[in-house]
Amino acid sequence: MGKSFTDSDFEYIFETMEKLARERKAPVFTLKNFLKTPFQHLVFTVLSSRTRDEMTVKACNRLFSKASTFEELAKLSVEEIEKLIKGVGFYKVKAKKLKQLAEELKKLGRVPDTYDELIKLPGVGRKTANVVLASAFGKQTIGVDVHVHRIANRLGIVSTRTNVETEEELKRIIPENMWAKVNRAMVGFGQTVCRPKKPLCSECPFKNFCVYYKQLNKNFSKQDVR
Ligand code: SF4
Repeated sequence: MGKSFTDSDFEYIFETMEKLARERKAPVFTLKNFLKTPFQHLVFTVLSSRTRDEMTVKACNRLFSKASTFEELAKLSVEEIEKLIKGVGFYKVKAKKLKQLAEELKKLGRVPDTYDELIKLPGVGRKTANVVLASAFGKQTIGVDVHVHRIANRLGIVSTRTNVETEEELKRIIPENMWAKVNRAMVGFGQTVCRPKKPLCSECPFKNFCVYYKQLNKNFSKQDVR
């Protein structure tokens, strides 16, 4: 059983995660500065699933050099989009979705700023909608991806099996005025310190309460005494 977290614990955790991630130049802080509009944030987030940020940035730069608005993107064929975004995971599926997305946005005349509207767009799932609401519109919401799910569980903030459960649980226990920080802080921390494999626990300030770290050490000590 993990510790119970107060509002000031959460403040400390997210500030520290962001500080450590910025010092280590986490891609989430260094590579996304070129995104200027909600449309660009949306395209980046759609392309980024199952793809390293460095690769997503390259694909976005190629794509935005030809089409930096949804009106321009709607004019490209699926084959042209495929060529521009090649390198990102599932690029053929994503090219089709981007084409449909651009056509829908053209009809709407804008990138919507509500969850209910975003989630109806082609290629936009729960995580994408929440990440775009927080990063492009500054709305208080929590986008849960693999980093957020893994770290929240490792630390013992939640004990959940799916990203949706993690999102619901985090929204229940973290004060709403901090929600917009959660994704960026945890993604940056996950890219640099609490990595999926070989996390840098020896450099981590959260060792004293991290459930995963305690479990690892318990297993090591058991092996030691055998
Ligand atoms: S102690 Fe290790 S597993 Fe726990 S949060 Fe820190 S880096 Fe991640």
